Amino acid sequence: RTVYVNGDYLPENEATVSIFDRGFLFADGIYEVTTVVDGKLIGFDGHIKRLQRSADELKMNIKVDEPEMLEIHRELVKRNNLDQGMIYLQYTRGNPGDRDFAFPPEDTKPTLVMFTQEKKVVGTAVEENGLKVVTLEDLRWGRRDIKTVQLLYPSLAKMEAKARGADDAWMVQDGFVTEGTSNNAYIVKDGTIITRHLSNDILHGITRKSILACAQLLQMKVEERPFTVDEAYAADEAFATSASGFANPIVEIDGKKVGSGKPGEVSAKLRELYIEENMKAAV
Ligand code: PMP
Repeated sequence: RTVYVNGDYLPENEATVSIFDRGFLFADGIYEVTTVVDGKLIGFDGHIKRLQRSADELKMNIKVDEPEMLEIHRELVKRNNLDQGMIYLQYTRGNPGDRDFAFPPEDTKPTLVMFTQEKKVVGTAVEENGLKVVTLEDLRWGRRDIKTVQLLYPSLAKMEAKARGADDAWMVQDGFVTEGTSNNAYIVKDGTIITRHLSNDILHGITRKSILACAQLLQMKVEERPFTVDEAYAADEAFATSASGFANPIVEIDGKKVGSGKPGEVSAKLRELYIEENMKAAV
């Protein structure tokens, strides 16, 4: 693979970052993952705007240049012949040359790395078979709206889900589902789609926004509010959205079948329209 590090395109084994980089020492970094279909970027504008917001919330000295970012994304797609998959982008507060909790001087250059990942995103087995999730306490920090690289708890939760024979975890705070380890969570009851409202408790998914717009186009009813684990057990359908998963059906929660135990109609319709709309708008 050819990867990108601070202005250079390099073979992946020649790309390096300092051991003093604050991304490495403090998880002082932010990221975005943009999906590629047919060599084109899905939802690019939304990812770039969220990246700037994450940087601003953490007072990182970063001015995201959208045309320049688009050029780098496209160059990586081209150099790696990427047809379907993702582009990972990470900014950190850079390398102050030593370890110190206090932020480095303003003129410390942020670190930017980007790389491609090949992955089938259209016509997947998950779309056909659905996912199994388990519920676990949400032990993450209080600013989940900022897309930081502090992903240790989501990673542990994913491993716990796998240990219990499931695919992913839905995290729970005070009895209410927050979101999945790397996706937003939804249930459907009596034709109404229910998903947690935006706040600091969850990531403001780019896919979430587009899926809710699709729901509106399809004249489906939506309630943006927290839902309990018991409501999820009793739902007719459940699904999860993310940039690389689009809308993936969930067929089992804590070992209990959701509805019929088969992928639901609502998520299938949303997925179809999402792909159609976003492929039209892909850059
Ligand atoms: N929630 C969390 C915790 C995530 O990590 C992600 C994916 N990065 C999402 C939701 C979905 O966000 P998006 O649709 O922007 O990929």
